[in-house]
Amino acid sequence: MYWERVTEEIYVFTSERYALVNSVAFLTTEGIIAVDALPFPAEARMIAAFLGQQRDGRFHSLVLTHYHMDHAYGLFAFPDHLDIISHDLCRQKLLEVGETSLMEARQNDPTFDEVQLRLPTITFNEGEILLRAGDKTFRLLRLPGHTADNIGVFYEEERVLVTGDAVMAIPIIADGDWRQELQTLHAIKEMAPETMIQGHGEVILRGEVQVILDRYINYLERVEEQARQVLAEDKPRITIRDIPLETCGLERVPLGIASHRLHVANILTVYDCLKAERDAT
Ligand SMILES: [Zn+2]
Repeated sequence: MYWERVTEEIYVFTSERYALVNSVAFLTTEGIIAVDALPFPAEARMIAAFLGQQRDGRFHSLVLTHYHMDHAYGLFAFPDHLDIISHDLCRQKLLEVGETSLMEARQNDPTFDEVQLRLPTITFNEGEILLRAGDKTFRLLRLPGHTADNIGVFYEEERVLVTGDAVMAIPIIADGDWRQELQTLHAIKEMAPETMIQGHGEVILRGEVQVILDRYINYLERVEEQARQVLAEDKPRITIRDIPLETCGLERVPLGIASHRLHVANILTVYDCLKAERDAT
């Protein structure tokens, strides 16, 4: 794991073991607000221990951007009494699939034996949550598309947006909805954050924010084009496997994960959806 200080009072922790997934901490005069935790227990414990030495070890609350294990598992390492804030659907999803997928993860890798699943204790559905902690104001807002439950945390005073997986080094919509994701990316463009902390990958600073968002919007539009083309030309579904990432305007995804596989899953998801819509008419 490595960590970076974005400002005096914002830390980003990045997993070297899993797809450069990020965990973020805001230091406020009323304690620390941590957003997401990394999946592997050793890394999560290091973060919790490090933060426990800041601000007299006082925490304010935890935020979970969405239910995926790489963001949720590490929460076990933080003090038990803390509230976890998320969208309603995040809690629902964890209730539905959390324990089963944790059992599978433990079978594949016993280091997950240590993980205890924690459920969100404060949730919201429509609108936003305004969180005031000492000198800082945070807006928790819906950023769906990667998943239906994904939320972001916007730190107003410095215009820093933690996006969850609404923004990541390759947009992934196979467990979500690409149209919703496109809307979300446009909405983030309009918010025009000064700094964007993605779910996976490096922190994006001022001049880069709009450029990167345009790149991801363009990527998803091209994914849709490719899917439409396969459908229109009645090509076999399997040909989607041969469409390279570059065709959709992304060159290299520095996450250390199988980006081609994720990219193909994106096109397949869009294709299946468009086909179902066509067949229904
Ligand atoms: Zn995710």
